[in-house]
Amino acid sequence: MSESIDCLIIGGGPGGITAAIYAIRSGLKTVIVEKLGVGGQIALSDIIENYPGFPSLSGGELMGHFEEHAKGIGATIKYAEVKNIKADGAKQIVELAGEEPIVAKSVIITTGASPKPLGFKGENEFIGRGISTCATCDGPFYRKKSIAVIGGGDTAVKESIYLSKIASTVYHVHRRDRFRAEKVLQDRIMDRDNIEFMWRHNVVETVGDDMGVTGLNIKSIDTGKITELKVDGVFVFVGVNPNTRFIECDKDEQGFIITNENMETSVPGVYAAGDCRVTPLRQVATAVGNGAIAAFKAEEYVSELEGRAY
Ligand code: NAP
Repeated sequence: MSESIDCLIIGGGPGGITAAIYAIRSGLKTVIVEKLGVGGQIALSDIIENYPGFPSLSGGELMGHFEEHAKGIGATIKYAEVKNIKADGAKQIVELAGEEPIVAKSVIITTGASPKPLGFKGENEFIGRGISTCATCDGPFYRKKSIAVIGGGDTAVKESIYLSKIASTVYHVHRRDRFRAEKVLQDRIMDRDNIEFMWRHNVVETVGDDMGVTGLNIKSIDTGKITELKVDGVFVFVGVNPNTRFIECDKDEQGFIITNENMETSVPGVYAAGDCRVTPLRQVATAVGNGAIAAFKAEEYVSELEGRAY
């Protein structure tokens, strides 16, 4: 087993990178473990307009700045998948897929969340053949085609606006008669003239063949009438599931990690920051704040373990 490090950060999104910057600057021997690539879910966002200091840039560009900053102060990024975390006295044994475990005095979990499936007939079957949860990844395949977008939150509205600049027609399906997305996005979507709003409709099933999706059946909540939308693609944005299976600690019923205001989980020495924790707002700005607090408290914890608390 490897030599013990002071702070292991799991996840290289905004919360993880911020935690690493604070942990390194406080003198903790720190490693970030990331499964895929640095940046997290936000790196797939085509435009970010609410992160202070950067009025408008893409998620990839913003996270490029984060990564450059962290690497510039010596952050170590290890590409591996965390399978499990087990306490061993005051230390944590972090098990990795196909590699030696890492022993850490403190752990900060910043693994974010992934798109949630809606559960309609054909959703799974046609994933990658017309059903998508990533507008920037798959949007370009639908140039001058008709598509449907499902959901009423920030993601659905933002991505519907983006997709309406590529597709010929966007049918935006939502179960209510208004969106929950932030006001500026609501105003912007109303200005798009190729988005048709299918208010108060639920999705019933995908229509398709061997080649992929050809339509989507939706049902009116008011009349029960089923309408077939002739679309080549369906983008599902109905919320997120947390990436927290590998850790046993207190969580809410959906699996989001419960922390206190110090980002402490129910396991001493283990902290959580960003979208994977129970929080009223999932933004880059909130993940950054959480990451800073988590690293600050991790440093205090490690100092106490080592008998050098200030
Ligand atoms: P969200 O805010 O949870 O919205 C999910 C949407 O899906 C809601 O409109 C919900 O309908 C709908 N929905 C959920 N289950 C459904 C079902 N069974 N049938 C039909 N509709 C269903 O999720 P999100 O938009 O992915 O956002 C996740 C977090 O990231 C939020 O905190 C959000 O603010 C943040 N975010 C922020 C930005 C930004 O630019 N500021 C961008 C993306 C995400 P109801 O409204 O009826 O509940």
